[in-house]
Amino acid sequence: MRDVVVIGGGPAGLMAARTLAQCGHDAVVMEEHPEIGAPVHCTGILGRDAFDELDLDTRVILAVAHSARFHATAGNTATIESDQVHAAIVDRRSFDVTLARRAEADGAEIRTATRVSQLVMERGRVRVFTATGETLTARACVLACGAKYRFNQQLGLGLPKLFVQSAQLDVAFPPLEHIEVHLDHRRLPGGFAWVVPFRDRGQSRVKFGLLGGEHAGAVFDDFSRRVAARVGVDPSPWPRPRLRILPLGPVRRTYANRLLAVGDAAGLVKPTTGGGIYYGLLSGRWAAETLDVALRRDQLDATRLRAYELRWRERLGPEIRAGLAFRTIAARLDDKAISTLIDLANIDGLVPTLKRTANFNWHRDATLALLRNTEFRKVVLNSFWG
Ligand SMILES: Cc1cc2nc3c(=O)[nH]c(=O)nc-3n(C[C@H](O)[C@H](O)[C@H](O)COP(=O)(O)OP(=O)(O)OC[C@H]3O[C@@H](n4cnc5c(N)ncnc54)[C@H](O)[C@@H]3O)c2cc1C
Repeated sequence: MRDVVVIGGGPAGLMAARTLAQCGHDAVVMEEHPEIGAPVHCTGILGRDAFDELDLDTRVILAVAHSARFHATAGNTATIESDQVHAAIVDRRSFDVTLARRAEADGAEIRTATRVSQLVMERGRVRVFTATGETLTARACVLACGAKYRFNQQLGLGLPKLFVQSAQLDVAFPPLEHIEVHLDHRRLPGGFAWVVPFRDRGQSRVKFGLLGGEHAGAVFDDFSRRVAARVGVDPSPWPRPRLRILPLGPVRRTYANRLLAVGDAAGLVKPTTGGGIYYGLLSGRWAAETLDVALRRDQLDATRLRAYELRWRERLGPEIRAGLAFRTIAARLDDKAISTLIDLANIDGLVPTLKRTANFNWHRDATLALLRNTEFRKVVLNSFWG
């Protein structure tokens, strides 16, 4: 019998497997795709600090951004630059591959092209059945299968509080000075669209993406074509974007007898942006550390494993609550209010406030500072009752 089976070879599962292997446990990752990291659905931005904190390979960083330009539908823009913000844009496929290599180097086994089709919790063990007819037994299981919730429902863990549609495409494109964030209340209420410039093997490229709204594909086409027209690029040869559903809030419970849920499977993403790589890595590590103690003591019942949920709730709970509250307010701001806020960012205290408080991985301070800003509050109140 293996110590731990990890279902899903994304950042959360790979970090869990690596940490378990480092602690001397026998961990096996089962990943349904033939290759780790593919297909890519994600823009791959995370705070640069995470690389030191979590001992990640910096060679996968394509660019580091310190600024973003916010666009209102009325056409006005505000550029926020901050020496404090270091947003690393990574090659997401290589990011996952290097995580997998490090997990293997530390002793974890990674099986690709292995889809778990059934998960059976038995007395004293977990049994997984694969689509190819294999069976494997383990003392415990880490659920790291991303935004797929069949096993969550089977185990009574519940679903994320909120889901949004998203779309993304990576194409060759002329260089752009800043990351662009486009706010459009009518079509993307509470969401936004983005253009992230970077260079890959000497070629200038961008990642277009969006989240929110109801018709992600159609809104994406219109948005990306408008940005392309602005710089004189013909978008007709571009492939279709990848469309995905993105979770934006934790599931009800992230532990059960012999099982912990991490990353997107636990709904652990930043509700402000939908970014989940950092929380996925953190939760993968915390889950492994909880399991390390539980495996050594052979105490793998839900009451012992609850320590993992207490840990992430203590660290991430205030961030997630502030993010969800901000999201609720942002979703109600109309385009006129967004345009006013962008003008305000150019002339008054919003920019210093953001510069002082912004941090790419941790959003609570900036969120609370904005909500306390008198001018910001006036615009919000006018938008709600004006
Ligand atoms: C358009 C878009 C853009 C994004 N941009 C960013 C960004 O810039 N920054 C950021 O931080 N986050 C971003 N995210 C979110 C980020 O991609 C996820 O939060 C992150 O990948 C979660 O990691 P994970 O390991 O939990 O899940 P995943 O990365 O989804 O990995 C789960 C793995 O489990 C496998 N799997 C699923 N079911 C099974 C099964 N039954 N058997 C075996 N394997 C299985 C899947 O194939 C997958 O490889 C974006 C998401 C989208 C949709």
